[in-house]
Amino acid sequence: MPAVTTLGLDVGATTIKGAAVSDSGTIMTRHTVPTPSEGSSADLEDAIVTCLKALRTIAPSADAVGLAVAGWIGADRRSVVFSANFPSWKEEPLVQRLEARVGLPVVMENDANAAAWGEFRFGAGAGTDSMAAITLGSGVGGALIVNGALVRGFQGAAGEIGHSVMITNGYPCNCGRSGCMENYVSGRSINRRALPVLSDQDLYPLALRGDERALALYTELGRYLGQGLANVVMLINPERVVVSGGVAEAFELFADAATEAMRVELGPSWRALVPEFAVGTLGSDAGCLGAADLARSARAL
Ligand SMILES: [Zn+2]
Repeated sequence: MPAVTTLGLDVGATTIKGAAVSDSGTIMTRHTVPTPSEGSSADLEDAIVTCLKALRTIAPSADAVGLAVAGWIGADRRSVVFSANFPSWKEEPLVQRLEARVGLPVVMENDANAAAWGEFRFGAGAGTDSMAAITLGSGVGGALIVNGALVRGFQGAAGEIGHSVMITNGYPCNCGRSGCMENYVSGRSINRRALPVLSDQDLYPLALRGDERALALYTELGRYLGQGLANVVMLINPERVVVSGGVAEAFELFADAATEAMRVELGPSWRALVPEFAVGTLGSDAGCLGAADLARSARAL
C-alpha cells in the first residue's frame, strides 16, 4: 500500500461508505457499514469509527481522513451545524471527537461539496478551473468550485443551488421557502408532475420507448434546469456544469432543453457564458473520492 493513501467516508442516510484512496484517485479498498437508523449521535459516531478501523486494518499507512456528511457543515469544517438526515447532530463537534478516537487528522465537508470535489479532481469536472455541480436525486444538491477552490461562504452554506428560488410563490419546499429549484428539477418533483398524467408508471423507461407525455415531462424539467442554472452562470461563470444523481441517467432526454432554456434566459448579451454540461462519471464513489482528496489537500498545507 503506497504511503500516500488517505481515507474517505461518505456518511449517508442508509450507509456509511468508506474507501482508502490513492493520491491519483484510485480506490485501493472499500468498507461499508449500515448507518444506524434513528441513531443517537454516539451510535452514529461509533458506526463511523467502526468503518474507519476496518479500513485502517487494510490500509494501515493511511494518514488522514476525509468525511462527507449530508448536512450543513460549519465554516471551520469542525462541526455539523444541522442535518435533516441526522437530527441528533446539532452543533455537533464531530471532527474533534473523531480525531480523539482515531488519532488521525479529520477533514469534514458537506456531501454535495465533497462529491463535486471528487468530480472536479477525478471525474467529469477534471481539467476545468470553475464548475458548478448539481445532483438531481429525490432532492437537489449543489456545489460551486471557483478558480480551483470550493466555495463555502461565511457560514459554510454556500452552493445550495437547489434552494435558490426560481418561481415566485411557487411550490412549497421542504426547507420552508416556496418555489425553490428543487421543486422543479428533482426526482420527487418530476414524479409529482408525472402522477396525474402517467399514474405510477416508471417515467424513464416510458420516455425511452418514445412516450410523448413522458418525453414532455423531461423537456419541461430541462427547461427549468436551464432557467435556474442561468442564475448560477451569472454568479460564478462556470466552464462546466456537472449533473449527477438518479435523474441524470435520463440527461440525454433533457440536455438540449436545458441548454436552450439557458441561452434564452441569458439573452443576447450573455449567451457566450453558456457552459458545457457533463454527466458525473464517479457515481456513488464521488463523495468518498472527494473527501479523501480534501483530507490529502488539508494535510499537505
Ligand atoms: Zn428549498
